[in-house]
Amino acid sequence: MIICLVLYTQSIALHVSMKRVLVTGGAGFIGSHLCKILLNKGYYVICLDNFLTGCRENISHLMGNDHFEFLEHDIVYPYPIGYVDEIYHLACPASPVHYQRDPIKTMKISVMGSFNVLGMAKKHNAKILLTSTSEIYGDPLVHPQPESYWGNVNPIGLRSCYDEGKRCAETIFMDYNRQEKVRIKIVRIFNTYGPGMLRHDGRVISNFILQALQNKDITIYGDGSQTRSFQYIDDLIEGLTRVMNTEDDFLGPINIGNPSEFTIKELAEHIIRHANSHSRLVYEPLPKDDPKQRKPDISLAQEKLNWSPRVSLEEGLSKMIIHFKNKIINTN
Ligand code: NAD
Ligand code: UDP
Repeated sequence: MIICLVLYTQSIALHVSMKRVLVTGGAGFIGSHLCKILLNKGYYVICLDNFLTGCRENISHLMGNDHFEFLEHDIVYPYPIGYVDEIYHLACPASPVHYQRDPIKTMKISVMGSFNVLGMAKKHNAKILLTSTSEIYGDPLVHPQPESYWGNVNPIGLRSCYDEGKRCAETIFMDYNRQEKVRIKIVRIFNTYGPGMLRHDGRVISNFILQALQNKDITIYGDGSQTRSFQYIDDLIEGLTRVMNTEDDFLGPINIGNPSEFTIKELAEHIIRHANSHSRLVYEPLPKDDPKQRKPDISLAQEKLNWSPRVSLEEGLSKMIIHFKNKIINTN
């Protein structure tokens, strides 16, 4: 009886001394990687998600962990969260296919979700990090994009629910810092890929790899001359945790991305080669407002975080191809 009591007290003491971190959108692609790394770093991790675009499978390997807790909740509505030291706010659909399916909901998630998580941060005096996006630069007229660039966004187009939603989220975060002294960080993430993306995610790398592995036509939108700069998930997670650990007076925004820039046609050719595929390239109409070019200026991240991406596109694609091959085998 006494031994049990001592063990119980010790376990409570351990939980009390552990830093508690909330990850909203923790069952999504990036969120699930982040939860895993934070657990490895010794945090008590609370993952909040409503499975809008995430899935149980992404976090099933964490469910048995004593230091992991899952809350099924829609962040558009307030949640009476217990004490937390830090919040990573990721909850938001990120693939154009998904965020355009219900644009009103997307905007509510960005705006009302931000108010709700900032309320939690204010209540518990927690540090809070927003995963913003390179989309806030829109179809950029400055190349590469530094954080000082205000962007070229169509406020009434099909992508606006996401682009303007995130721009508004950045505003709300800054105002909570200025008015309520909440300790915030804003990270502008550039196109990120890796294991954990869903088969029906709809973003370019997962689409092309699945098509290539099945020797189906590779669907290039437009003539494929538009560019993107692709970052592997491990580099992003390292960048996010470094930003969270900066001193309180560093708010960002800060770009986290890989500056190696490729056209979408080059990307398709890389994937066909790496996957030993017989797929053909086919050309479909370019979606409206699709940015023509995108490449992060990462000078600030290099200087402030001593961070640079380490994983090349070649290396990242190889890992991703192996992952999707296994997925296809396991679901057939
Ligand atoms: P994702 O769609 O895989 O993950 C988003 C997660 O948020 C999902 O698990 C989803 O179910 C959850 N979610 C959505 N709405 C919610 C709500 N109302 N309440 C609770 N949970 C909700 O996308 P991702 O690629 O992992 O992106 C994560 C974050 O990073 C997003 O905020 C996104 O805007 C940002 N981001 C991602 C990229 C990228 O290239 N992956 C680029 C820029 C920014
Ligand atoms: N794209 C494409 N084929 C696809 C999916 C996307 O050519 O099957 C293009 C898309 O038009 C864009 C780029 O690839 O120019 C990146 O698209 P994604 O949806 O991954 O992200 P975005 O950066 O546009 O948000």
